[in-house]
Amino acid sequence: MATETFEFQVEARQLLQLVIHSIYSNKDVFLRELISNASDALDKLRLAALRDEAAGADVSDLHIELVADPESRTLTVRDNGIGMSYEEVIQLIGTIANSGTAKFVKELQEAKDAGAAEGLIGQFGVGFYSSFMVADEVVLVTRKAGETGGTRWSSSGEGSYSLERLDEAPQGTSVTLKLRPADTEDQLHDYTAPWQIRQIVKKYSDFITWPIRMAGPAEEGKEPEPETLNSMKALWARSRDEVSDEEYHELYKHLSHDWTDPLETIRLQAEGTFEYQALLFVPSRAPHDMFTRDYQRGIQLYVKRVFVMDDCEALMPPYLRFVKGVVDAADLSLNVSREILQQDRQIQLMRRRLAKKVLATVKEMMTGDAEKYRTFWREFGRVLKEGLLSDGENREAILAVSSFASTHDEAEPTTLREYVERMKNGQEHIYYLTGDSRPAIENSPHMEAFRAKGLEVLLLTDPVDELWVEAVAEFDGKQLRSVAKGEIDLDESDDEATGAEGEREKRRQEFSGLLGWMTEQLGEEVKEVRLSSRLTVSPACVVSDTFDATPALQAMYKAMGQELPRAKRILELNPAHPLVTGLNQAHSERADDPGLPETAELLYGMALLAEGGQPSDPSRFIKLMADRLARTV
Ligand code: ADP
Repeated sequence: MATETFEFQVEARQLLQLVIHSIYSNKDVFLRELISNASDALDKLRLAALRDEAAGADVSDLHIELVADPESRTLTVRDNGIGMSYEEVIQLIGTIANSGTAKFVKELQEAKDAGAAEGLIGQFGVGFYSSFMVADEVVLVTRKAGETGGTRWSSSGEGSYSLERLDEAPQGTSVTLKLRPADTEDQLHDYTAPWQIRQIVKKYSDFITWPIRMAGPAEEGKEPEPETLNSMKALWARSRDEVSDEEYHELYKHLSHDWTDPLETIRLQAEGTFEYQALLFVPSRAPHDMFTRDYQRGIQLYVKRVFVMDDCEALMPPYLRFVKGVVDAADLSLNVSREILQQDRQIQLMRRRLAKKVLATVKEMMTGDAEKYRTFWREFGRVLKEGLLSDGENREAILAVSSFASTHDEAEPTTLREYVERMKNGQEHIYYLTGDSRPAIENSPHMEAFRAKGLEVLLLTDPVDELWVEAVAEFDGKQLRSVAKGEIDLDESDDEATGAEGEREKRRQEFSGLLGWMTEQLGEEVKEVRLSSRLTVSPACVVSDTFDATPALQAMYKAMGQELPRAKRILELNPAHPLVTGLNQAHSERADDPGLPETAELLYGMALLAEGGQPSDPSRFIKLMADRLARTV
C-alpha cells in the first residue's frame, strides 16, 4: 500500500531535535520508556477484555518481548497489547498532547548549560521519543486489538515520518530501533548485548507486572528458550526491607513519566475488612500543568495486582493532586467505575486516610529534614493551601505544615507557630497583607505603622491566599487580621501609650469638620473618611471594612463569572501629614473654597494608586493633578 509522509507537529519536531542532539547523559532509559509504554498497552488490553470490550483480541499470553540483532544492530521491543489504529498513531506519536510542551521546549532551548538541560528533560520525560537518543531510525508496526489491518510508522526523527497501512500485522505494537554506530569510547552502550539488556531491565523495569522476555541463546538442534528478565513482583506487595530506594524510584518514574527521583516515598498497608496497599510518591518538582484543567492526577488503582484505572481522582483530594502512586485494593470489582468509586464509603475512608498520611509525611519532613521541606513547600505550597478551603477536617494539619513569606525575614518563610512565638507582648492578632507581589505589599501604605512599631506581617501573594484567609479565622487562639481591613488600633499594644485614648479623642474633634465634609464629598466612592493609626509617612490610604470583600477577592470572583455586590471602602487620613493638616485648616477657614473638593478627590486617588489600584476615572485624576502642578511651576 502507498506510503504517506507527514510532518511532525512543531513542538514535537523541536523536542526531537533536542533529543537527537542528545542532552540526556543516561541513554539507557530509552528502554525503560519503551517497556513502560508496552506495559501500559498490555494493562489496557486486559482491562478491555475484562469489560468485554476487546472482541476478537487474544489475551492468552500477554507479554513483552525483546529481540536484539547484533548483525544488523537493531533492537525490537514488542508487546501484544492494545495497539494503535492508523489515526491513533498520527495522534499519539506525531504530536505531543502535554499542554506544557511549548513552554518546556522553549526553556530547554534557552537552558544555558548541559546540566540545566538535563534537569529539564528529566523533569518532562520524553517517552517514546527517547528512542532517538540511541537510534537513527525507528520503525513502529502496530495493530489495534480487534482490527484487521495494521500500520507501519517510520522516522529518522528529523522533520517528518512515514505511514503505511498494512493488510496484516501481529496484534499489539513492535518498536524496532536501528541503533546508532557504537561509540568507540563507549563500549558500555551496546544495546544488542544480552548482558546489557538484562542489566537495564533488572534495574529499571523489574517490577513490571508482565513478563519481559528475551530470546535465549541458540543451541545446536534446540529451539531457543525465551528467558524472562524481570521478577514481576509488585513493589507494594513486597515487604519494605526487600525493596531498595532505587527500585521505588524506578516505579515512580514508570508511573509519573518523570525522569527525576521523587522527593519522598510513602508506604501504607491497611489490614482488616477493607484491605489495601498504597505506595505514594511526592515528586521533587511540580508538574508544568498542575494548574490547568486537563491535569491528570497520578494515582493508579489496582485490584489484587491487576491494573484497573489511571488518574483515579476518587483516591486523593484535589489539593494533593501532585501525589503519584499506586493503590491496590483487595475487595473491589475489576469492573468498578469512576462513579461507583466516588460514592463508595470504603473508598472515601481510604481517601481520608491517604490524605492524612501525606500530611503527616510533610510534617515529618518539616521537623526532620528542613531542606526537603523547603523544596516541598516551594513546589507544592500553592496547591496545598487550596486544602485550607476544601478540607475542613484537615485544616489544622494543613496550617501546621504551611509556611508564609513574612516581614521577619527576607528569604526564609515562617510557620504560624514561629510567628506566634515571636509575637510581641500585648500583640493579640496575627497580621497579614495580601497582594500581587512582595515588593508591592511591602511598600503599601498599610504597612507603615506596622513597620514603625516593628510588628511582623505575613506577606501573602498567591491567588489562593485571598480565599483561605477568609475561611481560616484563627490559629492557636489568635485571630488572623488583614492590615488593610477594619480598624487597626496599634496603640493598644503599645506599652507606653497610656493616655493615648484622650489624645485620639482630641484629634477626632479637631478633624471632625473635615472628616464629615469629605465623607459627603466622596460619598459615591467611599462609605467613610476617618483618621488612621496605620500611617506614618503617606497622607492617606484606603481600607476595606472588616467583613467586606477586598478588591482582589472581588476581581477573583468576577473572573470566575460571579460578581459580588460592590463594597464601598474606607478612606483613612494621616493626621500628622502636612497635606492633611493643611487641608483641615483650609476647610475650617474657607469651607466654600472651590479648590477643596478637588484636593479631596486627589487625596483619594493617590491612596488608591498607593495600594496598586486605580482612580475610577484616571484621565480626570491626571487632569486635576496636572492643573494643580501647573500652578506650582
Ligand atoms: P507517554 O507514554 O508519556 O504518554 P509517549 O510518547 O511515550 O508518551 O507515548 C504517547 C502515547 O502513544 C502513549 O500515551 C500511548 O497512548 C501510545 N503508545 C506508545 N507506545 C505504545 C504501545 N506500545 N502500545 C500502544 N500504545 C502506545
